[in-house]
Amino acid sequence: MSGERRLPDGLRPETLAVRSALPPSQHGENSEALFLTTAYVQPDAETSARKFSNSEDFTYSRTSNPTVRSLEARLAALEGTEAAIATSTGMSAILLLGMGVLKAGDHVVCSRSVFGSTINLFAKEFAKFGVETTFVSQTDLTEWRAAIRPTTKLLFAETPTNPLTEVCDIRALADIAHGAGAILAVDNTYSTPALQRPAEMGADIVMHSATKYMDGQGRVMAGALCGPNSLIRDVFGPILRTVGMTLAPFNAWVVLKGLETLALRMKAQSEQALAVARWLEAQPEVDHVYYPSLASHPQHELAMRQQSGQGGAVLSFDLRADTPEAARAAAFHVIDSTRVLSIATNLGDTKSIITHPATTSHGRLTEVQRQAAGIGQGLIRLAVGLEHVDDITDDLLRGLSTLTIR
Ligand SMILES: *Cc1c(COP(=O)(O)O)cnc(C)c1O
Repeated sequence: MSGERRLPDGLRPETLAVRSALPPSQHGENSEALFLTTAYVQPDAETSARKFSNSEDFTYSRTSNPTVRSLEARLAALEGTEAAIATSTGMSAILLLGMGVLKAGDHVVCSRSVFGSTINLFAKEFAKFGVETTFVSQTDLTEWRAAIRPTTKLLFAETPTNPLTEVCDIRALADIAHGAGAILAVDNTYSTPALQRPAEMGADIVMHSATKYMDGQGRVMAGALCGPNSLIRDVFGPILRTVGMTLAPFNAWVVLKGLETLALRMKAQSEQALAVARWLEAQPEVDHVYYPSLASHPQHELAMRQQSGQGGAVLSFDLRADTPEAARAAAFHVIDSTRVLSIATNLGDTKSIITHPATTSHGRLTEVQRQAAGIGQGLIRLAVGLEHVDDITDDLLRGLSTLTIR
């Protein structure tokens, strides 16, 4: 082949999502190759010795793999960060984050509304190693400021949250973190870089469960951290190589191809979710709809500013009922009356998913904790997919129109 063609600077995100990757192999494949190999053959011992001393070279797939490297290049390009490191799941990305920036005696400030396993990881697992976490309000900045200690090293936020779609101010949290000599990490799973780019708003690390919208079709588990070389290459890279929360090449390839349609999917699914949210607001059986694009959302303006004017694909709604028992019966009736939506506890799929948070994702909380978190028995979460929007509302109407319990 003649000289290698390099992508020009200044390409737009839609182009980067399709084009950012390692150069093709000697065969010139147009679709990025899937390198299913654990080892890499070296031409001689001298070269082998050189490659083993340079972590950028391919030697063994726990430490690096060309398909995984292509995904990392594409993720960094989309988040607008210097680098990215892929991990086996979203949770192992947060584990890697903690192992990289925390040690015994350090302190973390984290929103109370983040993903349930994230709370467990900080409150239980990291606590075993002498790291203390203070959980604060998702939206009240004074609580974040008040929680800061001299030992605070990390602020961890997720926005919007599940299932109530509460939005926090990334720029304001970055300022609080930096004023305290700490870093801000933002879980960007829900919005993805197609809608929200936390690094542009001052976040030091952007974390992903690529299991959700990045794959986008509910096939594989994957995670990532995106950020500067000083953290990704110099801090997290050596830990991942030792600890081995490595992403499998096949999973990396699936997510890499998923990213090519990410912007289209996020736009389409957000538009569908808004249409469903507006329809739900007009149903007499529905008490309240939680969705950032609705004017009734308490952080509507902030959300629209941070999320490229889109609400994302997840919404929740509360059914009218007089007692928690009646509310649960009504929610179960609406869920069980569906014939198209998937009854499951996941999101980020082309298939719409309907969930009862109080008995699934938030089922292990006590009723008092659930009430405090605003997750009642009548709450239903909907992760809107790509079916025709009228088939989604028709499916919800099957249950809403036959509700007898009040
Ligand atoms: C699913 C999820 C995670 C965990 O990711 P896994 O890939 O399931 O490990 C973390 N944060 C958010 C917001 C999620 O939705």
